[in-house]
Amino acid sequence: MKFSNQLIIGLSILMISVSCKTVVTITDSSAGISVPSNNGQRHLEDISLNGKVYSALWQQNAAEFRALCYQAYNIATEIVKEKSSMQHLRPIAIVTDIDETFLDNSPYAVTQALKGKEFDQQSWLDWTSKGEAVAFPGSVEFFNYAASRNVVVFYISNRNENDRPGTIKNLKALGFPFADDDHVLLMKDTSNKEERRKQVLEQYEIFLLLGDNLSDFSEIFYHKSQAERNRLTDEHAVEFGKRFIVLPNSGYGEWESFMPGYNSKLSPAQKDSVILKNVKGY
Ligand SMILES: [Mg+2]
Repeated sequence: MKFSNQLIIGLSILMISVSCKTVVTITDSSAGISVPSNNGQRHLEDISLNGKVYSALWQQNAAEFRALCYQAYNIATEIVKEKSSMQHLRPIAIVTDIDETFLDNSPYAVTQALKGKEFDQQSWLDWTSKGEAVAFPGSVEFFNYAASRNVVVFYISNRNENDRPGTIKNLKALGFPFADDDHVLLMKDTSNKEERRKQVLEQYEIFLLLGDNLSDFSEIFYHKSQAERNRLTDEHAVEFGKRFIVLPNSGYGEWESFMPGYNSKLSPAQKDSVILKNVKGY
């Protein structure tokens, strides 16, 4: 199929989804998920909730998602190989985010959407406490390779202290190195990770950061408008694939929360309206 035809079909699907109220019917038996039901069916009539399911669909099923993970971790492996063979004045470390950088939380997003809900702290704790998230392809191998090259790994995540037991249980079960209290730095007062990065820098040289959200890399990206985020990304283009390794997350992030007009407390209908204002047709 020619690219132009694919583009037309893709845009048509997008326009149909956007112009109609998209309705997805899901049976309760799908994926063994237990959700409130109406004669065994549930309808996702909101674009925002439907979008969460579509993102999860891609994350859970697309070979291209797996390929992007391998691509990111292959590049990171090459960087670790090079940097760990060089002389350094101080011990060397890498800093990584957890969620959607190597732990797959798409089952949480799906389960919430099927209940007609998005994120909330209690349901998130219920999910993280299980310690059952699976790892992104290539991630366990990469972090163990780094450890084998005497590179220390710090996990800087905006999960909070309540999530700690489930998080460490999850990391250990999957075989991640440095899965302990000294190397898992969770959110206390602020979602800005800069202080925690500085804490690591007191003893280590950080040569690589991995994340799915730009503020996993530097404070310059933290809580910036969509226009600023795009401008700063262009300005720092050379860092990506060099010092910053980005994993794909189309389900959530500051790209969503700093979309013009967006606020997590909006009603589903208000969110749909914001989404429609932020997409282009032709
Ligand atoms: Mg993340």
